[in-house]
Amino acid sequence: MTHIKYVYTFGDGKAEGSGSLRDLLGGKGANLAEMNRMGLPVPPGFTVTTEVCTYYYQNGKQVPAELKKQVMDGMSHMESLLGCRFGDSKNPLFVSVRSGAKSSMPGMMETILNLGLNDQTVKGLASVSGDATFAQESYARLKHMYQDVVGNSLPQDPWEQLWGAISAVFSSWNGKRAVEYRRIHRIPHDWGTACNVQAMVFGNWGDNSGTGVAFTRNPSTGDKKLFGEFLTQAQGEDIVAGIRTPKSIDEMKNDFPESYCEFQKIAEKLEKHFRDMQDMEFTIQRGKLWMLQTRNGKRTAKAAVKIAVDMVAEGLIQKEEALLRVDPEQAGHMLHPMIDPKAKREVLAKGLPASPGAAVGRIVFNADDAVDWTERGEKVILVRAETSPEDIHGMHVAKGILTSRGGMTSHAAVVARGMGKTCVAGCGAAEVSEEKKQLRIGKVSLKEGDWITLDGSTGEVISGSLPTVSPEISADFEQLMKWADQKRTMKVRTNADTPKDAENALKFGAEGIGLCRTEHMFFDKERINLFRQMIVADSLEDRKKALSRLKPFQKEDFKGIFRVMNGLPVTVRLLDPPLHELLPHTAQEIEALSHELDIPVERLQNKVEKLKEFNPMLGHRGCRLGITYPEIYEMQVEAIMEAASEVSKEKIKVFPEIEIPLVGLTGEIIAMRELCETICKRFSIPYKIGTMIEVPRAAFRADAIAPYADFFSFGTNDLTQMTLGISRDDGFRFLPEYERRSMVRTDPFQTIDFEGVGELMRVCVEKGRKVKPGLEIGICGEHGGDAESVIFCHEIGLDYVSCSPFRVPVARLAAAQAVLKKR
Ligand code: PEP
Ligand code: MG
Repeated sequence: MTHIKYVYTFGDGKAEGSGSLRDLLGGKGANLAEMNRMGLPVPPGFTVTTEVCTYYYQNGKQVPAELKKQVMDGMSHMESLLGCRFGDSKNPLFVSVRSGAKSSMPGMMETILNLGLNDQTVKGLASVSGDATFAQESYARLKHMYQDVVGNSLPQDPWEQLWGAISAVFSSWNGKRAVEYRRIHRIPHDWGTACNVQAMVFGNWGDNSGTGVAFTRNPSTGDKKLFGEFLTQAQGEDIVAGIRTPKSIDEMKNDFPESYCEFQKIAEKLEKHFRDMQDMEFTIQRGKLWMLQTRNGKRTAKAAVKIAVDMVAEGLIQKEEALLRVDPEQAGHMLHPMIDPKAKREVLAKGLPASPGAAVGRIVFNADDAVDWTERGEKVILVRAETSPEDIHGMHVAKGILTSRGGMTSHAAVVARGMGKTCVAGCGAAEVSEEKKQLRIGKVSLKEGDWITLDGSTGEVISGSLPTVSPEISADFEQLMKWADQKRTMKVRTNADTPKDAENALKFGAEGIGLCRTEHMFFDKERINLFRQMIVADSLEDRKKALSRLKPFQKEDFKGIFRVMNGLPVTVRLLDPPLHELLPHTAQEIEALSHELDIPVERLQNKVEKLKEFNPMLGHRGCRLGITYPEIYEMQVEAIMEAASEVSKEKIKVFPEIEIPLVGLTGEIIAMRELCETICKRFSIPYKIGTMIEVPRAAFRADAIAPYADFFSFGTNDLTQMTLGISRDDGFRFLPEYERRSMVRTDPFQTIDFEGVGELMRVCVEKGRKVKPGLEIGICGEHGGDAESVIFCHEIGLDYVSCSPFRVPVARLAAAQAVLKKR
């Protein structure tokens, strides 16, 4: 039988494990071993490996038979180092039992202290310490903790106590809190936790004892100064539980001058050794300092950036490492206002974190009210079941948007992100009655004018008006971004439909526009009606007439964007949504429009009926519109090229890239290219004609399509929808359940489904470049701003990613990380 080593001992400057064995020993166990090897004062003990946890779950919650002997040997190892015995009534050994996974999950799993105390050994502790009260208190604490964690009252047999505690630690890996934490932080469920059994040092042993937690740098600001708290005459859990208010670590200088001095040196040594900010736990037992834990400290985005940049200046790490130290998602949140971290939140419900930031305002239920209230000087949150293009003016003035339906790529989410506006979408718990102007969340009923706060970074809907804090883009952040730009090989563009968005994106470092959705240019009140006239026109002649009146508007928009993007590429996508989406739907709205356009209600009604589709997402949209109504695309291409040519006379360089949406068939791209080219050739402006890749067939047939496309751009919103057959607007109803059950790793509309959609993208890139080496390929779906997806895009060789303006820095950093690491 092969001997499997399940227990790794440490103590007295030696350790069987080391810092490199995190997978096996968990973070805590690995670092306890490492601190021993560094010669730091660490109470001896041993770590039961994560493999035991895996075994435990694979074998009906039993530990392997060989474990017993190894644990007993581990206990003997401690006993011989300390000269006391577990369960001995005169000179007893006591231990702590703590969890510790590979990745830290603070407070999510269990800890038991003072193990080994019973009716006999408590007397031993009283006589060794000369303090009966301390011994009794420690015993009472064990009883309480044991009952709490293991669920049984404390057995008298210390060994039984020990096995109960070890099992409880392994069980806590699958506790509700821990499972939820792993889901949120994307920690694999099969890692398992290790279990650390360590000789007790008592911080509650008289007034020359104490315990504390400290960081080598300030975890909120990143300032290089020891930061932490300590309590005299207390055990570690007292700090966590917050029963007594701890003192600042600075005061330890007075209370324990020697230990403070020693601790300071140890902190410095640890930071140098691990080359990262450390979060440490220590105990002082009767004047002697003991280290109980060290790990890389969790920190705010602001602190992460400052610490990374400072450590490069201090020569502790290289720039490359600094780039890997900051989570791009977290960095992205720095660019938005945040809810004051000190504010107390009364969370009413949680939806999807569709567009980050904090928004505070009074509830309104339709776009017109949003405008009216704003004009009266009010701050508003637009609350809708879902938004549509007709809400755009309300979305524009609102501080934030809340919808009860729709996913991460719903209209509300996409538009809000583009505007850099906070949005919580798909909040199923919110019942919105637009007619009654009422919002019900559980038992809470809110009406027009009530205050709410949205946290678009967490998806929380919060009652009342909470204080917010403004973002500050620090010099450190700029520095880090500069390093990121030097490192990355992929370009980062933005999705922008207006000169203002484009300007914003340039400030965030965009290097071009990867997607300008031209339909968004029609939503203005004046234009939408011209557009509707075009849709309801009965003859080609009438349609052309309406189009010719729209053209100047489009042209002006393009000119504005070209001017802002001076010299940078601009991808303009031709009309994509089904025409029905741009018409009114309710009888009231139809009637109002019939007046405005001066056409009979019935005619309008008929047209609306005629354009209605069962599956509009799979219907008459994208290039299918260009094929059936070529005059629409012709008008758009003319507007693009005329704008480019006029702006170039202002000595502004223009690189228009005309993009055809929803191509699936080779015939479609051939026809659309011909249509565009006929117009483009009339101008002496360099141009490109390319296609979105958003229909799976287009990806498979990339080699047939590439000869007619100067570039490809993955529209992963539609590509995900069509590949998984999950509606981008309705998936939110069941995807959370899929996530909980690990059927999908994450929402595929947020992070690319690498095995499915991703594989399709890989095939497409290969096939496309096989027939056209060097074919320019990018991505402009929402995934272009998702850090993990950006890394994937680098791996499959994309030239650029394009995302909403506020995501540009996220993508820049992720693109740099992509060069340095694998997903
Ligand atoms: C896409 O489908 O990924 C895309 C960018 O187009 P839209 O979201 O406008 O459908
Ligand atoms: Mg699309």
